[in-house]
Amino acid sequence: MKRGLLIILSGPSGVGKGTIRKFFEKSTKLNLAYSTSMTTRKPRVGEVDGVDYFFTTRDKFEQAIKNGDLLEYAEFVGNYYGTPLKEVNRLRDEGKNVLLEIEVQGAIQVQKRCPDALSIFIIPPSMDELERRIRGRRSEPEEIIQQRLAKANHEMKMIKEYKYIVCNDDPKLAAELIETIILRHIELEENK
Ligand code: 5GP
Repeated sequence: MKRGLLIILSGPSGVGKGTIRKFFEKSTKLNLAYSTSMTTRKPRVGEVDGVDYFFTTRDKFEQAIKNGDLLEYAEFVGNYYGTPLKEVNRLRDEGKNVLLEIEVQGAIQVQKRCPDALSIFIIPPSMDELERRIRGRRSEPEEIIQQRLAKANHEMKMIKEYKYIVCNDDPKLAAELIETIILRHIELEENK
């Protein structure tokens, strides 16, 4: 069986990566599995442990780093986020294409470690719109919102690290474009 592809979906916090991913859940064409990350961030209202994230403590996260259990990890606005390696390998070995929804520091680590990963960066239509989306979540205090916005400005400068850029003006359209990119990439790989 052919090993599944690793797909990095990245872009600033609030750009709509999660919303776009929800469109993929309905798609059978992509043979996709989603990698659930570990984080030390507290759950937002409605988030479920083991579904949205594996919520954990800093001690346990640091132990996972030491054990080499993570494919990549990063500190983002005061919390750790990371991708459990074992599960990604298991899914890829089953032939599934694995989607990582991660920020830029982690995306760069994955590209170094897995140069054949397909990387896609999602940009907002404008920085004002990004701010509106971050504020629209109403889940964080002003201080954290400001930190996420500052981080977003920095992340936007990392565009050149990615193979494809997609603007998320409309999430359904962005999801369709990304689906086309993934399918075409798989086709090109198969014909190599
Ligand atoms: P949030 O707190 O908004 O859920 O996530 C903050 C940022 O961390 C987002 O850009 C999100 O995509 C990213 N993120 C989520 N999981 C991971 C992960 O496993 N690794 C890395 N590097 N970033 C992640």
